[in-house]
Amino acid sequence: MEREYVEQIADRDDNYSQWYLDVVQRAELADYAPVRGCMVFRPYGYRIWELAQAKLDRRFKETGVQNAYFPLLIPESIFQKEAEHIEGFAPEVAWVTHAGQEPLAERYLVRPTSETIIGTMYAKWIQSYRDLPVLINQWCSVLRWERRTVPFLRTTEFLWQEGHTAHRDEADARERTMMMLEVYRAFLEDDLAIPVVPGRKTENEKFAGAVDTYSTEALMGNGRALQAATSHYLGDGFARVLGIEFLDADGERKPVHMTSWGLSWRVIGALIMVHGDERGLILPPSVAPYQVVVVPIAPESRREEVLAEARRLAASLAATARVHLDDRPEYTPGWKFNEWELRGVPIRVEFGPRDLEAGQAVIVRRDDGTRRSVPLGEAAGVVERELAALQRSLFDRAARFRDEMTHPAATVDELEAILKDRRGFIAAGWCGDGACELAVKERTGATIRCLPLDAGAPSGACVCCGRPAVHQALFARAY
Ligand SMILES: [Zn+2]
Repeated sequence: MEREYVEQIADRDDNYSQWYLDVVQRAELADYAPVRGCMVFRPYGYRIWELAQAKLDRRFKETGVQNAYFPLLIPESIFQKEAEHIEGFAPEVAWVTHAGQEPLAERYLVRPTSETIIGTMYAKWIQSYRDLPVLINQWCSVLRWERRTVPFLRTTEFLWQEGHTAHRDEADARERTMMMLEVYRAFLEDDLAIPVVPGRKTENEKFAGAVDTYSTEALMGNGRALQAATSHYLGDGFARVLGIEFLDADGERKPVHMTSWGLSWRVIGALIMVHGDERGLILPPSVAPYQVVVVPIAPESRREEVLAEARRLAASLAATARVHLDDRPEYTPGWKFNEWELRGVPIRVEFGPRDLEAGQAVIVRRDDGTRRSVPLGEAAGVVERELAALQRSLFDRAARFRDEMTHPAATVDELEAILKDRRGFIAAGWCGDGACELAVKERTGATIRCLPLDAGAPSGACVCCGRPAVHQALFARAY
């Protein structure tokens, strides 16, 4: 029986959130787990994560970062050392209180983030300025109890990486903070084709225990913002409470300056929402599990000869791309086209009896639907060029959309009208007072996503109170 996949996903314009959930499920990226707030990362989705992870991990290592692994459980006494930190995370922490039937002498929490446990080890390892810097990352899952959950965007347990570094002084730690922000920007833009705005978070929005938090902010297809990665300068606060001190060259004992930085599987949600269309997912070739799917089209009588040549074609493409030959006889070509479109495969190659006779194949791009016939001998080269072009055009399209959806506002009324009308990023002056930021949030639901690094000198007045603007801020409703 022919199934129409496209009819199985909600209309993207009418019901964006249902469209998102449908794509997650129908593309088999993830499924709901029998654990409240948790999801199962299915093989197709997990493969995207693996490909993205490998690219980001290589970028980390190019800056001297090494991977390690620390325990899942953190003793309460350690976690409580940094007061702001515990206060920030307390409402969403899960506690382990028993081993079997026996109550534990000390409670453990399931890590919501690992600054304290990692810092505790750094206190042992760092003695001298010669031991610095320490540049460690871990790939793991963390747990933050959430009330409302959405696959990839907000789940109780989620996969991420957290980097933790220790430095001799503030300048070195701040340099690392900005370096990792740039690593994230390059990864998001060059590998995931997601344009981002790098900037600094306000006091209200920064990480619990950080001196400064920086983030990369992306705009989703429905005009809502999503924070795609963060990089924190932690100062010496964690070092002081955890006793991470070193003997400097001048003979003085000093606390280290620290950073932490993280990116989670939220970026999979961003991939769906930045690139997807009414037919489903569109994956950037760099992280597509299959960059090319070859679909043979053959009547029963010529099946074997078409299939034999399709296999040769797939093998020749496999030298330069991740290729899948969909030779399942129980599905029609039309059904397969729909399925691979829904699952976001960048390029489809159609191959039928007429192509066999003409010695050619038909290449179809997922992003714009363009089709072209190419001689078999040139197929590999054309596919390679088209994949590169598609990667670029996904980024360009998303950047254009982001620019078109960024509007200035001079007053809260204007800001509110833009949000009602078309959402998007709103660039506005801000006096720097947290009370103004909260007033805007209360009235419009928009928060300051970041103070963009390239915003230039502020001009005009605070969008809220009318006093002179100290910052140019980027407001949006966010996930
Ligand atoms: Zn103000």
